[in-house]
Amino acid sequence: MIKALINRLRGKPAAPAKLERVVVPRDQHPISRRDISNAALKTLYRLKENGYQAFLVGGGVRDLLLDLHPKDFDVATSATPEQVKQVFGSQCMLIGRRFRLAHVRYGREIIEVATFRAHHTQAESENHARTSDEGMILRDNVWGSVEEDAERRDFTVNALYYNIEDFSVWDFAGGLADLEKRQLRLIGDPETRYREDPVRMLRAIRFAAKLEFDIEAGTAAPIRELGDLLDDISSHRLYDETQKLLSCGHAVRVLDLLHDYDLFRHLFLFAADSEESKRLLTLTAESTDERIAIGKSVNPAFFYAVLLWPALQKSYASLLDEDMPPVPALQQAGQRVISRQTQRTAITRMTAQTIREIWEMQPRLERPRPRQVDILLQQQRFRAAYDFLVLREEAGEDTDGWGEWWTHYQEADPGLRAELLRALESNGGSAGRKPRKRGPRKRKPASSQQP
Ligand code: ATP
Ligand code: MG
Repeated sequence: MIKALINRLRGKPAAPAKLERVVVPRDQHPISRRDISNAALKTLYRLKENGYQAFLVGGGVRDLLLDLHPKDFDVATSATPEQVKQVFGSQCMLIGRRFRLAHVRYGREIIEVATFRAHHTQAESENHARTSDEGMILRDNVWGSVEEDAERRDFTVNALYYNIEDFSVWDFAGGLADLEKRQLRLIGDPETRYREDPVRMLRAIRFAAKLEFDIEAGTAAPIRELGDLLDDISSHRLYDETQKLLSCGHAVRVLDLLHDYDLFRHLFLFAADSEESKRLLTLTAESTDERIAIGKSVNPAFFYAVLLWPALQKSYASLLDEDMPPVPALQQAGQRVISRQTQRTAITRMTAQTIREIWEMQPRLERPRPRQVDILLQQQRFRAAYDFLVLREEAGEDTDGWGEWWTHYQEADPGLRAELLRALESNGGSAGRKPRKRGPRKRKPASSQQP
C-alpha cells in the first residue's frame, strides 16, 4: 500500500496502464506450425482441448518472427500449474517456488508451461507474491489474464503471443513495431522494472548482443545507475545468467556491452588490467563464438579460467614472495581466487575443479620433461589446458613458445615426435622458440574448449 502511494507520488504507476491488444491474423504473419517443435504443438493442442487458453510466447515467437531458430519454446496458459499437472499427468513436473512452473516432458525435450501471471500489490497478494523493500519481486505467483501476463513480461518483443486457437499473433505492447525497429524496450517504467528484477539489465545485454538489437534510450538510461542492484541477486542466479551471456554465441559483443554499461564489475570480481589479459579475454570470446557458430559445445570452466587468470597470477606471485614453493602456491592461489569469485557467481564444484586443472597444467605444459610429454598428452584436461596456453601465447604473454611447440608436436608423425623429444632433452628443457607477439593465429584446427 505504502509502496503504491510512494510510487504514485513519484509519478510512477504501481502497475503499468492496461495494454491494448492488437491481433495479427495467420495470413499476415510468417509463423508456420512447421517451424514449431512437435512437443510444443502437442502441449498447446492438449491445453486447448481441455478448455484452456494456450499460447506460444517469448523467445520462440520472437525468434520465428526474426527468421531465427528458437532455442526453445515456452508456453503460456490460463491453466494453473495444478491443472496443467492434471492434463499431462506423469509427463508433467511442477517446479520452482519463486516462480512456479510446469515442465512437460517429451523424451529429451521439455516444454516450459507458465500460467498467466498478474501484477500485484503487496496487500492484495500476501501469500502468493512478495516484494522486498527495494521493490524486488521475491515471489511471483499471482495468476491473471493473458493481458496481465503480457504486462509483466520484460521486453515488448518478448511479449508476443502465438494463439493456438486460430494461429494469430497477439501483440500487447508494441512488440511487432519494436521488432521492426530492432530495438529492446522494457514494458512499463524501466527503472521500476529493473528494481523489480535487476537481472533484466543482464537480459537486455544478452538480447541486444544476440539479436544485434539496440537498447531503446529509455530502457538503456537507468542501467549504469542501477548496476549495484545486481549485488542483491543470488550467486546461483548470477552464475546461470553469466553462463547464458558467455554462451549465447555473441560473447564478444556481450563483453563490450557489459563494459559500456558498467556491469562487468558486478559479475566478475577481477578486471583484466594488462593489455595481454584484455586481449586474452577477447580472443577467448572470439573462439567461443566461433565454436558455438559451428554447433560445438563450450565449457564454462574455460571462460572462468581466462576471466580469473590475471587475479590468479597476482595471488600466485604474492604467495611466491612469501616463499611458498610454486606447486602449493599455485594451488592455494587458485582456491583463493575461485572462492572469492564464487561469492558473486556460484561456480559449481566441478567447474571449479576444471578451472584449477587448466591452471595447474600451465607450468607443466611450459616445462615438460621429455618423458612426461606423452603422458600429458593423454590427460583428460590436456585439450583445454593446451587451448588455454595457445590463447595466452596469442595474447602476447611470454610462454617461451610452448604453445607453438605443442601444436607442432601434435601434428608430427612418430619419427618427428621422437626428434622433437630428443631436441628437448638436449636443449635442457627449452621449447627453443620465442613466443610470437600477436602473430597470426596458429592453432590446431577445431581447437577444443571442451575439457
Ligand atoms: P531465449 O530462450 O532465447 O534465451 P526467451 O525470451 O525465451 O529467450 P526465457 O528466459 O526463455 O527467454 O524466458 C521466456 C519469456 O519469459 C521471455 O521471453 C519473457 O517474456 C519472460 N521472462 C523471462 N525472464 C523474465 C524476467 N526476468 N522478467 C520478465 N519477464 C521475463
Ligand atoms: Mg525461451
